[in-house]
Amino acid sequence: MKGRIETRLIHAGEPEPRIEGAVSLPIFQTAQFLYGGEGSYNDIRYIRLNNTPNHDALARKLASLEGAETALVTSSGMAAITTSLLTVLSAGDHLLIQDSLYGGTHDFVTHDLEGFGIAATFIDADDPASWESKRTPKTKALYVETMSNPTLRVGDLKAAAAFARRHGLVSLIDNTFASPMNFRPVEHGFDLSLHSCTKYLNGHSDIVAGAAIGSKDLIERVRHKLNHLGGSLDPHACSLLWRGIKTLAVRMRQHQENALALARMLEAHAAVAAVSYPGLASHPRHARAKELFDGFSGMLSFELKGGLDAAKRFLDALTIPLIAPSLGCVETLVTLPAVTSHAGMAPEERRRIGITDGLMRVSVGIEGTDDLVEDFRQALNRAAA
Ligand code: PLP
Repeated sequence: MKGRIETRLIHAGEPEPRIEGAVSLPIFQTAQFLYGGEGSYNDIRYIRLNNTPNHDALARKLASLEGAETALVTSSGMAAITTSLLTVLSAGDHLLIQDSLYGGTHDFVTHDLEGFGIAATFIDADDPASWESKRTPKTKALYVETMSNPTLRVGDLKAAAAFARRHGLVSLIDNTFASPMNFRPVEHGFDLSLHSCTKYLNGHSDIVAGAAIGSKDLIERVRHKLNHLGGSLDPHACSLLWRGIKTLAVRMRQHQENALALARMLEAHAAVAAVSYPGLASHPRHARAKELFDGFSGMLSFELKGGLDAAKRFLDALTIPLIAPSLGCVETLVTLPAVTSHAGMAPEERRRIGITDGLMRVSVGIEGTDDLVEDFRQALNRAAA
């Protein structure tokens, strides 16, 4: 479907003609469908095989949003990530992967991959010159994140896609933080774009879901692996995700407006030691983010001069945000990654990639801008007192 992304969020992937004239896609809450002459196991119509009308419609919409051939939804972001990695890597293979990663992905790479006979080496996504020395004849894939969690670094994504292409590696990118509104990886040469749809794509803190987006061949391979591993999204959750996606553009606009206002206030406040938001001119990769992204999303992190103790006082003083994990939803959420999402990482490794004990990550919601800014300001003043 042609048209602006705002239009495709609403209309792309809709069944034509509409089923029984229904404007909203019905939920096909049926585990299986009548046998229709399917010739292979993967084509049998069954929820676990990821091919109900709700799955197919989401696949069409997500592919359209990122300008890709096709897509696949999964039962969680981690199901999309692990299933995709296990599709493109086999025993004996080697993976190059960004060192600053979502905690669950980092845990999987450091604790589980070895059991599958797959080796991995961490790379600095902002230092392409260092990648070649880490590549081996067994390297088969390269994995990065659009913006790193929780430090909001923006790696050299163009170099990552080009390096993978040059060496015949499959390139994978976790595009959760940017969402299709701000970055469309396939258009930049990546083979597989992965999402935790739990976050911006759904946006309402009420489901866990994931997606893989890419070429027909590659997604079909991921789907066959998913069919075996079983990480399928339930049709009811498909329907909630379908509804959530439709408002992504208006939500993202407000996330971004709020995040920039908050980031600017934090940067100017005497109690704050550092702020990381790709939309700030002070961000070390602001120019790159501006070139690559259509917007800077609603994630930021910051540190107080008083460290962990001040951070705890600050969190106690907030009245609007919720202190809770996850991100990309309508509510503003604040976390201390060192004790939540990245608690599984060795403390020295955490510090090496910039996650100090007092670092706070904010998923800026879509509340009133002034209300949020004022609430953060009063909490900063109280934490500093
Ligand atoms: N990728 C990123 C960047 C995330 O932040 C998360 C979850 O927080 C995931 C992947 C995992 O997604 P899920 O919780 O849907 O499995």
